Amino acid sequence: MEKRVAVIGAGASGLVAARELLREGHSVVIFEQARRIGGTWVYDPPPQESHSRSSNVARNHSCHSSIYQSLRTNLPREVMGFLDYPFVPRRSSRDARRFPGHEEVLDYLESFTVEFGLHGYVRFNSKVKYVGLVESNWIVKSSSSAGKEEKESEEVFDAVVVCNGHYFQPRVAQIPGIEKWPGKQYHSHTYRTPDLFKDQVVAVIGNGPSGQDLCSDIAADCKKVHWCAKLWNSPVESLQQGKIQRHLMISKADKDGRLHFMDGTSAVVDAILHCTGYLYDFSFLDTKNYVKVEDNRVGPLFKHVFPPALAPSLSFIGLPWKTIPFPLSELQAKWISAVLKGRASLPPKGEMANDVVGFYRTLEAQRVPNRHTHRLDLEMFDYAEWLAKQCGGTCHGFEPWRKELFLSTRDNRKLNSDSYRDEWSDNDLHEKVVGVLATSFF
Ligand code: FAD
Repeated sequence: MEKRVAVIGAGASGLVAARELLREGHSVVIFEQARRIGGTWVYDPPPQESHSRSSNVARNHSCHSSIYQSLRTNLPREVMGFLDYPFVPRRSSRDARRFPGHEEVLDYLESFTVEFGLHGYVRFNSKVKYVGLVESNWIVKSSSSAGKEEKESEEVFDAVVVCNGHYFQPRVAQIPGIEKWPGKQYHSHTYRTPDLFKDQVVAVIGNGPSGQDLCSDIAADCKKVHWCAKLWNSPVESLQQGKIQRHLMISKADKDGRLHFMDGTSAVVDAILHCTGYLYDFSFLDTKNYVKVEDNRVGPLFKHVFPPALAPSLSFIGLPWKTIPFPLSELQAKWISAVLKGRASLPPKGEMANDVVGFYRTLEAQRVPNRHTHRLDLEMFDYAEWLAKQCGGTCHGFEPWRKELFLSTRDNRKLNSDSYRDEWSDNDLHEKVVGVLATSFF
């Protein structure tokens, strides 16, 4: 049966959720706190004061997006795109590179929104403040702003799909002595341009994609970068003619500005940039403590999507990380839409709950920390296949070419972290894929 569904967020996940729900005949309202669609891809220069001068760096943020000015995608565009709406250069493209800048991704999401007629379903400037269950319906309270006026509203829905993203609530490193350390602290969430660190000595924490990118971004302008991480795959060495010095983690901060590293060295530093990831945050959601975030595990969730006791009327899209987010969200959205329609069915609630318990046991046996519950990595290919199977019909998982291109990019990035976006050796495969996409979709 068709349902009245609230989708929270008009980023890639919320947009594709709305499209799939509409395709199944549901009625949809997308609540979006921003003025436009695109979520984290809407580059949003924050006011300068949101860069913290205090040690309480995690509280100093007010924007949603975490995109910095120089950001280029870390996946090739063909791999990134939705399953049936390829991210290939179009006539209107301003940046046809294989790893384009963030504006091109936002343009792509805009085209997707126009193509599938989604703009009319979005309530812009509408921030969801509360979502809670009353009998068998969901109450959604939101506040919308038009000019200076704030309007509060309360509506009832059959189902809620949460697509609020998970790259806006900073997670910071704990450093003994940091309260008295006199330098400034920032998180990659509010970093935009390298002039912030001009002529300064900076400690960058974290060697994930943001840490890697931001070290290079700031190295030209700053005096020196001390790049710290728990573990390095290659020797702890100095890079870029000594401009970047790798270290193990910071063990202690002194009140004279000195940072001590676990490799036994130390340096006086002006600023710390935490590239240490994010925390899931659903502060608007009241499930009477059924769905919790504990050590960055959101649970209990059957297959990262449905909380067993509240399924199928509550669901989450886009929680997995280390994935190919757009097409994975698309498959989760197809599954949710089919289940709400009654075209696909879920196992009984007890069975789903047992599945979650079994999943947690497996992670524990493999010594995977709770905070990595939604980290998929290569598991994503089987997961995508599984999701597609639930949807039935012609729905398919990730195409073999997508996997092949993903893996060749990953290998190239491991070997050439500075140049993988401009130099690669999988040209034959790339050209074949571009050909396939052109003949299948245009
Ligand atoms: P978001 O894009 O975060 O969208 C969530 C939306 O929900 C936002 O519009 C927000 O305003 C809205 N919202 C939140 N709370 C509320 C509320 N209470 N009320 C109303 N609206 C609300 N992915 C790739 O595929 N390739 C890349 O190269 C890549 N690079 C990345 C680089 C960085 C620095 C980051 C942070 C992420 C990157 N990603 C990349 C991952 C990226 O997050 C996903 O591509 C995708 O944008 C996730 O979409 P989403 O809709 O789940 O979340």
